[in-house]
Amino acid sequence: MKHNKLLLGGMILAHILFFLSFFLLFNMYKNKASEPLSEKPSQLQAEKHLAIRAKGLNVQTTLAAIGDILIHDRVYENAKIKSSYDFHPMFQMIQSSLKKPDILLANQETILGGVKLGLSSYPCFNSPQQVGNALIDSGVDIVSTANNHALDRGEKGLITSINYLNKLNLPHVGTYTSQKSHDTLQILSSNGIKIAYLSYTYGTNGIPIPKGKDFLVNLIDKTKMKEEIQRAKKKADVVVMSVHWGIEYQRFPNKEQKQLASFLVNQGVDIIFGHHPHVLQPMAWIKAKDGRKALVVYSLGNFLSGQDRDYKDIGGMASVQITKKVSQEGKIISLNSPTFLPTYVSHSHDQYRVVPLKNAGPYGLMNASEKYNEIMNHMTHHLK
Ligand SMILES: [Zn+2]
Repeated sequence: MKHNKLLLGGMILAHILFFLSFFLLFNMYKNKASEPLSEKPSQLQAEKHLAIRAKGLNVQTTLAAIGDILIHDRVYENAKIKSSYDFHPMFQMIQSSLKKPDILLANQETILGGVKLGLSSYPCFNSPQQVGNALIDSGVDIVSTANNHALDRGEKGLITSINYLNKLNLPHVGTYTSQKSHDTLQILSSNGIKIAYLSYTYGTNGIPIPKGKDFLVNLIDKTKMKEEIQRAKKKADVVVMSVHWGIEYQRFPNKEQKQLASFLVNQGVDIIFGHHPHVLQPMAWIKAKDGRKALVVYSLGNFLSGQDRDYKDIGGMASVQITKKVSQEGKIISLNSPTFLPTYVSHSHDQYRVVPLKNAGPYGLMNASEKYNEIMNHMTHHLK
C-alpha cells in the first residue's frame, strides 16, 4: 500500500516535472522568438563597455577663446556692402587658426540687434546681425554675452540679439530671454568630453535690469555663481567661465580679479576666460584647494574693435588641451599645453582685419616681431 502510494506519488511527480519542463522550454522559445531586434546591439554595447573599462578611456579636446568683438561705427561702416554688411573679410587672415581648436568661444561685447533697431556705436552699441554669420563661418562655436553693453539698447535689444543667435544656431551664454533659458545649463560636447559654459559681468554701465527680470543678464554674485558651478559640475566634465571684470586699459589683473578667480576655481571652475579691460592681461595657473590645476586668462583684450594704440588693437586666442581619463579608479580631468596666439587689428589699406601679430608688419604695425615677443612674454610668463 505504502509502495503503491509511493509509486502513484512518483508518477504524479514525474508528470508534473514533465509538464513543468515542457512549459519552461516553451517559454524560453517564446521569449527568444519575441526578443527585440536590439538584442545584438545591446550585447555589443555590453562588450564595448567591458572593453572600455578594461583598457580605460583617454580622450582629448582643445578649448580656446578670443576677446571682445566690439563693433564701433567705423568697423561696421567698413563692412558695408550695398544694402547689407559682410564681416567675413575681417576674419579671413586669421580664420585657419580660429578653426583649429575643437571649441572656440568669443566675447560678443555688443548686441546684434541689427538695422531695424538702428545701428549705434559708443557709448550705447547696436551692431549689424551679420557679425554673427562671420563669427560662425570663421570658427566661433559659442559666444559669451554677459557684459557691460548687454543692456545698451534695453531689454528689446538684448532679446533681439539672442533671437538672432538662436536663428543662427550659435550657442550663447550669459544673457537670456526667460527664467527657463537662464536656468538651463549651456553644455557643449567634444570628443566625449562635456563642457559647461558659464558667463557673468560686473555690471551693465549703470543701465538698470528691468524689475523682476534678473534672468536677462548674469551679474557677478558669489552665491549665484557657486550654485551654478555646482550644478554644472554634476552635469559636465569641465566648467568654463567667462568673466567680464577688471579695469579698462590695465595690463595686469587687480586684487579683486585675483580673489574672484581663486574663489571660482575653488568652487569648481576649470578655466576662466576674462574680458573687458580691452587690453591683454596674463594667463596663469591657479591651484584649487582640492588639488586641481585651473587656468585663468585674466583678459583676452579686443579681438575686433575700432580702438587703436596703447595695446588696444592687440588681442589673441588662448587655447588649452583637456584630457579626460576614465579608469576603474574614476575620472581624471587634466589641463595641458596652454598656448597663446597674439593678433593685431589692422585698418591699413582701408580694410579692418584681424591678422596674426607676428606677420602684422605689412599691415601697419611697426616692429611686429619685437611686439610679438613682448606680447608672448606678457601672456605666458606666469605659466612657467
Ligand atoms: Zn566690456
